[in-house]
Amino acid sequence: MSATANPEKSGNINRPPLVTVITPLWNENDAIPALVAALRRLFQDTSADWEWLAVDDGSSDDTAARVRGEMRGMARARLVCLTRNFGQQAAYRAGLDHAAGDAVVFLDADLQDPPEVIPEMLARWREGARLVVGRRRSRPERGVRGLLLRGFHVVFGRLTNNVMPHDSGTFGLMDRLVVEELKRLPERNLFLPALRCWLGYKQAEVWYDRHERAGAPKQTYAKLFNYAWNGITSFSEIPLRFISWLGVTLCVFATLCAALIFAQRVGQWFGWWTDRLVVGFTTQTIGIFFLGGVQLLCIGIVGEYLARIYREIKGRPHYLVERVEEAHDRDVLKHE
Ligand code: UDP
Ligand code: MG
Repeated sequence: MSATANPEKSGNINRPPLVTVITPLWNENDAIPALVAALRRLFQDTSADWEWLAVDDGSSDDTAARVRGEMRGMARARLVCLTRNFGQQAAYRAGLDHAAGDAVVFLDADLQDPPEVIPEMLARWREGARLVVGRRRSRPERGVRGLLLRGFHVVFGRLTNNVMPHDSGTFGLMDRLVVEELKRLPERNLFLPALRCWLGYKQAEVWYDRHERAGAPKQTYAKLFNYAWNGITSFSEIPLRFISWLGVTLCVFATLCAALIFAQRVGQWFGWWTDRLVVGFTTQTIGIFFLGGVQLLCIGIVGEYLARIYREIKGRPHYLVERVEEAHDRDVLKHE
């Protein structure tokens, strides 16, 4: 793909660039007023035209109705309603498929990632970066959640040779070119924060402090774990290699034990060794349980990769759209 849709980069300076802000929403009823107020402030920046693309990820509360109400009076806003809850990454993917912008911004609804940083991202984009990644100088999550999130970034960085900047998340801006290339990737196991970096386009970073979340996290532990494991399995084969290393280590250990016992037996025959080596019930039981556990763990890791291959082969869509609504008339445009 050679052309870029960025009018400034393509020489078309007659109109300001259109920037789409994609927000996935799952039961975010309470977050919407503050989100919309922040977006309205952002949209006062006249150096760009703005589009808000809200993706309702199968909310069971009034999220869609609230967005519908708030969209009124916005120059350009759209609501994409998915048929059910497909998860945050699928919702962002739906946003990518529907965004019209020359640049596209990923913004969570909870304002943990401040929209005030977006103009700085736009500036980096105008300077030529195809991808601008938000990096967290600090994050508010404490306790077990904070520990797990920090731990994930360290492990993920090591396993993937730092495919994406440390402590970055979904918050970021992409050029239309990056969006089109992302859309061309066929994979079902989406981990967009790393995939967009993996494409390799010129990248810039913007630092920010992550805010406290208003309301309960919508990414539950189960969803976060799945998301993290998807990320690791899509970008690293080291867990599989770990099984081989473990197998080699255990074989070496067993061989050393066998050699030791053999040496003792030989020593006893020749009378060099008088002590008897007693391998008792406890040692054997621990050994059997330990090896049983290791084997199940290894089968589990292989199974996780297999499950992902299975998911890819089935080729089901990332999401299904119930309807798309537009700001100006709030009419249903199309059914998909
Ligand atoms: N979200 C979603 N579908 C889900 C879970 C979350 O669309 O199944 C949205 C949620 O409404 C929010 C964003 O994804 O806009 C991030 O969720 P959250 O703040 O809970 O995640 P975290 O900050 O822990 O990444
Ligand atoms: Mg959040």
